[in-house]
Amino acid sequence: DQSIADLDPDIARVLDAELARQQRTLEMIASENFVPRAVLQAQGSVLTNKYAEGYPGKRYYGGCEEVDVAEQIAIDRAKELFGAEHANVQPHSGATANAAVMHALARPGDTLMGLSLAHGGHLTHGMKINFSGRLYDIAAYEVDPATGRVDMDAVRALALEAKPKVIVAGWSAYPRHLDFAAFRSIADEVGALLWVDMAHFAGLVAAGLHPSPVPHADVVSTTVHKTLAGPRSGLILAKEEWAKKIDSAVFPGQQGGPLMHVIAAKAVALKVAGTEDFKARQQRTLDGARILAERLQAADARESGVKVASGGTDVHLVLVDLVESKLDGQQAEDILHEVGITVNRNAVPNDPRPPRVTSGLRIGTPALATRGFGDEEFTEIADVIALALTGGADLESLRKRTAALADAKPLYADLQQY
Ligand code: PLP
Repeated sequence: DQSIADLDPDIARVLDAELARQQRTLEMIASENFVPRAVLQAQGSVLTNKYAEGYPGKRYYGGCEEVDVAEQIAIDRAKELFGAEHANVQPHSGATANAAVMHALARPGDTLMGLSLAHGGHLTHGMKINFSGRLYDIAAYEVDPATGRVDMDAVRALALEAKPKVIVAGWSAYPRHLDFAAFRSIADEVGALLWVDMAHFAGLVAAGLHPSPVPHADVVSTTVHKTLAGPRSGLILAKEEWAKKIDSAVFPGQQGGPLMHVIAAKAVALKVAGTEDFKARQQRTLDGARILAERLQAADARESGVKVASGGTDVHLVLVDLVESKLDGQQAEDILHEVGITVNRNAVPNDPRPPRVTSGLRIGTPALATRGFGDEEFTEIADVIALALTGGADLESLRKRTAALADAKPLYADLQQY
């Protein structure tokens, strides 16, 4: 039985090179994080060999006695962490979780009301060629151009007109809290169901540092790999009355065999998410985003057309508005890449540039907080980003500053991948 280095040196080289890239650069993609070694171990385990269609104690395959234990632990931990009545831990990803949610709550042709993709919503909330846009009628709400925020009066007016079956509250690129109680009352007023997709802010919710949607929503979906810092996968929480429909929408409605190695890794991540250390890390994540927003709004940045959408942040990311800057989103992403910082370009509301170029950047702090960054390091990286975007320093000197930060906060220090 050969190791990967002997059996497949081409792929072994990719694993080595990617570990080195993650160690050497500073990761500020808002949807990424670094999982603990224990999560890597669970995901790289023999549980990948096991078929377990069905649910714990009700499987369609033999030999599920051990994986049943892992899945039940994951379910119990998810319910406890978020105070939910029901949890389904089987979705392979956030997108499949969302497809299952809609499968459970609505029928093709029903109306789904979600935040427009161009204003920070997700593909699965109604984009035209996504399953959501193809199967459901879409009524999209937007952010208010003056404030950069979702205006609940406008949401209510649209809901009264569109009479949606389901309203989804959640986002991929929006720097503020949503008012879940207001969404609930609008849903009740128009007879809609409320689904919250907390993929981005689930870690903040787990830490008690962001309002929880769980008391307000019929169903809450999330990814596990963003602020929650677990394996790449999805999770659905629901009120008890939706439990059966959600479970059957996931399996057999949406998926076949669950990924038991990933479910075991989810259990590990959910354990970590209940600790004081995790809470402190989420606080550093929020503090880092606030420092970044403040620094980018400093006078020299403003004069060069670098603005912060909505004027700040309540969460783990900053949406940088480059509409008035010399740089477009692609150029800004490339410049930060050159200095050793990884981010993604992102459309800003009413973006004049096409989606492949954009006039914005989405910059997040979760991965660096996991790496150990605190106020001091976030202040330094915020300075580097501001200088890079405003042309205030030569890129070589900035690259040295990011390299020094990466050295000061080593990642996966003595990790043996295989
Ligand atoms: N929902 C939201 C709000 C997201 O931001 C994302 C991912 O970007 C997803 C769902 C989909 O998750 P995945 O990429 O795991 O399918």
